[in-house]
Amino acid sequence: MNNEILVTRSSMPSMDEYIDEIKELWDTRWITNMGEKHKELQRKLIEYLKVENVDLLTNGHMALELTLQALNLSGEVITTPFTFASTTHAIVRNGLTPVFCDINPYDFTLDVTKLESLITDKTSAIVPVHVYGNICNIEEIERISHKYDLRVIYDAAHTFGERYKGRGIGSFGDASCFSFHATKVFNTIEGGAVCYRDKELGEKLYNLKNFGIRGPETVESVGANAKMNEFSAAMGICNLRYVDADIEKRKKIVEHYRERLTNIEGIQLNSIQDNVESNYAYFPVIFDEKTFCYSRNEVADRLAEQGIFTRKYFYPLTNTFDCFHGKFDANKTPVALHIAKRVLTLPLYAELSIEDVDRICDLIINMN
Ligand SMILES: *Cc1c(COP(=O)(O)O)cnc(C)c1O
Repeated sequence: MNNEILVTRSSMPSMDEYIDEIKELWDTRWITNMGEKHKELQRKLIEYLKVENVDLLTNGHMALELTLQALNLSGEVITTPFTFASTTHAIVRNGLTPVFCDINPYDFTLDVTKLESLITDKTSAIVPVHVYGNICNIEEIERISHKYDLRVIYDAAHTFGERYKGRGIGSFGDASCFSFHATKVFNTIEGGAVCYRDKELGEKLYNLKNFGIRGPETVESVGANAKMNEFSAAMGICNLRYVDADIEKRKKIVEHYRERLTNIEGIQLNSIQDNVESNYAYFPVIFDEKTFCYSRNEVADRLAEQGIFTRKYFYPLTNTFDCFHGKFDANKTPVALHIAKRVLTLPLYAELSIEDVDRICDLIINMN
């Protein structure tokens, strides 16, 4: 069936352009371990993301997991359950206890009015998620984290290239972790990055991603291996040339979706944020089964019958995963629970045509 529409489609340069970029790797035979491509992408990202430091890693998950480790946290870490498995797993795999804060019903980020009541003398950090590219309430998180002396590590996997009040989104908190997975706005096939300010944190992170090796005969600490290889970095260098154009295309698609799906009984769209230059990463729609004629699951099934594949991001909530059975009570995050049951992310990628957006919208509107 060639009129199938998948929820996402990876951005890629032309094959010739990529081959051109990787050709010299056959001369140098330097294909990993912080080679020229790694260094070049790192430089370019510092500039593009408007941040002080960037370290490149194998993927977004290792960026999060190793950053939490580098910060030497203990006890409890406050986060939200309305996210990808990675966020919660990074906390748990560090031997830390996730404490789940609810989300707000407007942009689905951490509800800062509920944050302070979750802080105990065991709390060491907050891991807020800029979910769908919606930016958390940075000012409040900053205020509260300073008041209680907590570290803040943003899961910025969805916010590549975003600006808040003109500042790079990766410049907030102690660190921000990006994912360059194939499905994200910007990809290095697999890959990730940590943006940070504190040089000492940077050193620890570097040790963690490269076995703690600092010289031919010097192993400074017990590290893992999470280096980005040269082929991935080369893909990033190519994709970075087109990311602004891609975001512009995504913007047009999102604006069209919004135009078509605004003011439809039973459909809620997330609110547009002030002072944010968005990357239009995802297009989530909330279907209220009481006022829309079908539930979210029925809408997803009906679209799939027509060859249109959506995703239930983020369902199930991470605090209801089988692997955490009996450990957390999702009723303590009722807004997240409510949204997770009703949300559907519609197809969105730079090359999605406006005709296809119309086809999807027509199907949805005609259901009602
Ligand atoms: C994609 C993603 C990650 C993990 O990134 P990978 O590069 O796939 O390891 C972490 N958090 C969120 C919210 C994500 O969407």
